[in-house]
Amino acid sequence: MMSYTHDNFPEKVAQMPASPREKLNLLGLDRAGLEAFFSDLGERPYRARQILQWVHQRGVTSYEPMTDLARKLRQRLAEITMIQPPTVLKEQVSADGTVKWLLAVAGGNAVETVFIPEPRRGTLCISSQVGCMLNCTFCSTATQGFNRNLTCAEIIGQVWLATQALASGRFGDRRITNVVLMGMGEPLLNLNNVAPALALLRDDLAYGLAAKRVTVSTAGVVPGIDQLRECEEIALAVSLHAPNDELRSRLVPLNRKYPLAELMAACRRFVDHDRRLRSITFEYTMIDGVNDDPRLARDLLKLLSGLPCKLNLIPFNPFPGTPFRTSPMERILAFQEVTRSAGLITTIRKTRGEDIDAACGQLVGKLMSPSQRRLMVQQQLARQAVAV
Ligand code: SAH
Repeated sequence: MMSYTHDNFPEKVAQMPASPREKLNLLGLDRAGLEAFFSDLGERPYRARQILQWVHQRGVTSYEPMTDLARKLRQRLAEITMIQPPTVLKEQVSADGTVKWLLAVAGGNAVETVFIPEPRRGTLCISSQVGCMLNCTFCSTATQGFNRNLTCAEIIGQVWLATQALASGRFGDRRITNVVLMGMGEPLLNLNNVAPALALLRDDLAYGLAAKRVTVSTAGVVPGIDQLRECEEIALAVSLHAPNDELRSRLVPLNRKYPLAELMAACRRFVDHDRRLRSITFEYTMIDGVNDDPRLARDLLKLLSGLPCKLNLIPFNPFPGTPFRTSPMERILAFQEVTRSAGLITTIRKTRGEDIDAACGQLVGKLMSPSQRRLMVQQQLARQAVAV
């Protein structure tokens, strides 16, 4: 089983296998992938179902306990495969009960995963990439640049790990009811690895979550939104932040590639395609004096008119070096009043885990030395000076 240790990062990474991908990591195969694997081995496809349950539901990481598999098969699996979840480098618990894990992933990298307990639910926020290449000017993940895509094993490994940690009872009687891909990275730029992870989240033999309880959040990768229609049914959140191209391009540079007209058209295609989950959540980070004018709320209503959707206002979470500030609460409420009174369901996201830097846009996988970090922040500020 995992040992949960604190702040022992350099030692732990040194102990990690030089090439952890020598063996196939079965943690990262969804049902279709496992069936293909077993058929290559000359085994029956139902082996896939057995492995799914052992790994994801019973949390087993070795083959000995899998007594419903023949001994010879277990030996063969141990030779050519492994079940390897990510290693926990650090675990932090916020005063409000939010838990953040810093996880080591192959190559000396780290990503962050956050569990947010609420009265009747438990949301796990997972990362899809190490860093991010989108450079949104108000997001601290951007300050670390892009390193690489996470593998499916590393993405679903975050859910595996949090499930096991919660099952230990160390955090009270808590379990994961919702998973959101809103951690580090842009999930729709890593769909090859994200798609099987979504399948595992939905699979009854793995995590068995309903479609509306699995949310992919995108900064607006239009081809990815279209591809998502072919994946497992899930809920879509789109990070909007501005109702016009001029402002949105300053906040989300990706908007220059996929401007609002194209993004909205893709959203409409997504909603039309999906007969069951016919609503998109638009996220709008409230930044003082930048995008919080009530007139922009009226523009937003025009942009979203006729599209089945909800609006989620996120108070901006500051991070070291950012020139932006959080909108005052009365301004957020005034913005909400405009959209709400026009009939658009508008919620305000409660900021959670702030004391442990676990809130939206604060996830950076703290791996850099202070001097590397200073350099990154300077580069980011220079980019902002050009962009804003
Ligand atoms: N790349 C994806 C998912 C990661 S960001 C996306 O852009 O949707 C998850 C959410 O947090 C997004 O809505 C993002 O815009 C928001 N966010 C980023 N930085 C933030 C900050 N500093 N304060 C508040 N919200 C932030």
